[in-house]
Amino acid sequence: MFLAWGSYLNSLGYRLLHLNSFFQRRSFCPSCKKIIAWYDNLPIVSWFNLRGQCRSCKQPISWLYPFIEIISTLLFALLYNYTEAHYFPAYFIFFSALIVTIRTDLDQMLISRYVTLYLVPIAYLATVYNQLPLSCSMAIIGSLFGYFLLWCAKTISKALLGQDGMGQGDLELLAMIGAFTGPLGCWVALTIGSFLGTIITLIIMAIRQQRIVKIPFGPYLAAGAIFFVLLQPACISYFSI
Ligand SMILES: [Zn+2]
Repeated sequence: MFLAWGSYLNSLGYRLLHLNSFFQRRSFCPSCKKIIAWYDNLPIVSWFNLRGQCRSCKQPISWLYPFIEIISTLLFALLYNYTEAHYFPAYFIFFSALIVTIRTDLDQMLISRYVTLYLVPIAYLATVYNQLPLSCSMAIIGSLFGYFLLWCAKTISKALLGQDGMGQGDLELLAMIGAFTGPLGCWVALTIGSFLGTIITLIIMAIRQQRIVKIPFGPYLAAGAIFFVLLQPACISYFSI
């Protein structure tokens, strides 16, 4: 079931990037536009079966498809096992939004508001009905804190480097993360995200032998938020010492 949902999140990510195909119901090849048969559209299996190529035009199919399907299955299974049952629905929406963000940011360096800013009120609502382990005021503070933190980072980097180091989408993503996890979750997501992002950027720079590489920040923030939710009890005891 989680696998099928992961596969749906993939197509949702694709459709958010190409809004004109939003209402098309059948999946099709992005290169030759041919409708994909059901047996070539099975999660994970088909990608490996086709060796990552379209059956008719032989254009490569992005590795993001199996990657997103695998991480969705893994993350939802972990979420199901490690969170309290009554928090599952709200976290399910949160994780789905983060996965779509990872997909679109890795693909096109774009983050859609449909899976960030527009979900902030849903987080507030979930706290009111005790569907998240934080109060509504903490959710509101968390979202403002997240937006403000990255707004400062963006403004400072612009003043020092004279260029935008960060996209508007990152600000809205951290606002959404703050709404679902509060100011602490926001801070942990940013700390882990920056740490991961720095290490991976250095590795990419070393491999490509380039001084400047442009990498999306969204997936790292999302990974930080996922760590926080899954390891929340441990995080809270560690950071409150
Ligand atoms: Zn094709």
